[in-house]
Amino acid sequence: MTVDNHKMWNELDMDVEMHDLLCEALPVAFGDVYLSQENRPEGMDFFNMVVADIHGIRPAELIKHQEAGGKVVGTFCIHVPDEIAVAGGAISTGLCSGSQFWVPGGEKYVPTATCPLIKASLGARFDRTCPFFRIADLFIGETTCDGKKKAWEILAEDAPMHIMDLPQMKREKDLLHWRDEILGYKDKIEELTGNQVTEESLHDAIVLINNKRRALQRLNAFRKEEKLPISGKDVLLVQQIAFYDDPARFAQMTNALSDELEQRVKDGVSVFPEGTKRILLSGTPLSIPNWKVHHIVETSGAAVVGEEMCTGSRYYEGLVDEEPTDMEGMINALNERYMDIHCACFTPNTERIDDIIRLAKEWNVDGVIDVNLKFCGIYDIEGYTVERALQEAGIPVLGIETDYTDEDAEQLRTRIGAFIEMIGEK
Ligand code: SF4
Ligand code: SF4
Repeated sequence: MTVDNHKMWNELDMDVEMHDLLCEALPVAFGDVYLSQENRPEGMDFFNMVVADIHGIRPAELIKHQEAGGKVVGTFCIHVPDEIAVAGGAISTGLCSGSQFWVPGGEKYVPTATCPLIKASLGARFDRTCPFFRIADLFIGETTCDGKKKAWEILAEDAPMHIMDLPQMKREKDLLHWRDEILGYKDKIEELTGNQVTEESLHDAIVLINNKRRALQRLNAFRKEEKLPISGKDVLLVQQIAFYDDPARFAQMTNALSDELEQRVKDGVSVFPEGTKRILLSGTPLSIPNWKVHHIVETSGAAVVGEEMCTGSRYYEGLVDEEPTDMEGMINALNERYMDIHCACFTPNTERIDDIIRLAKEWNVDGVIDVNLKFCGIYDIEGYTVERALQEAGIPVLGIETDYTDEDAEQLRTRIGAFIEMIGEK
């Protein structure tokens, strides 16, 4: 932690004293979960560095962009198309919060029985303990779940917000509605930045964000190997940083990591002992620094080889069609791609069930753990369908519910440990 960061945090009107407590806790947690791993790829050094100064380096870059007249928008959901903000000359940054540190602050505004992601997001803003929540010129909310819808009303009392109305079905008229919302977002970005979203800038932005997703696809492909050259925890970290880092640099560093993994595969290097069981996680997003389930799985004799989550396949699998170069065609391509996310907020949502079965087969998993963030009703209820479909497909499944605290860690360790043992010898 540098003196310069304190100066920046003070200028952002942060509660620096309280924030220092978070700065003290994060390196310890990161050391325990990440730095304790053996034989990590050297390409993880960049991502370690990003986490080590997560509230320093990137916020300073965002402020520099603002000082040069640029704008920063903060988003909470992968339905919001970053391409629009980028094409208008803004920087788009993720704001989903994954630390218990912010939860009590959020509980002053919303009921305890609200998902930790929402509580932490409100706490981070109202407690003034996250630079990203201080820097953003505009917050983009969406009407995905009830908790978020109501939380945005509260957040709007303190922060400038633009809300996108996401339909909950995928009929033709719903697709047309989301297309309108994307156009509305474009207008908002143009008003905020004073820049026009042009055909050229939008196409460049589509390619830029696609390249980020391609880099994640390439990285995730290594998890299909029998000898895993990288841990699930490390891939999770890269996926979490994807929401914050500069997209071009992120793709470059992720591809550099993949180059190293390619060599590891050729050399037969594995970070797990032979016979390690393979687990797919499905469910609610795991925002940084929520590494709990991965850590438990990977210290209980198994490896996480994939995440059917917004901090996983739901984020990187679909690309926007790069073929169209006219405005209408590109907006349609964005609409098609962003309405093809299989979030539990949609009904019906059978595509998500198909995805889980497909990914379980592609990654050759021994079992699936369906993870639900406490008080997330939609994923909790959909868990019934997920578990039934997996059982019918003969894939062992364990449903768990957790939050950001460590209180349930031991109980989870027991259940996950028993599940891993139960899924048979390899
Ligand atoms: S789980 Fe649904 S609402 Fe939450 S970030 Fe993902 S797509 Fe958005
Ligand atoms: S995890 Fe569930 S309840 Fe929480 S914000 Fe996402 S969809 Fe809403």
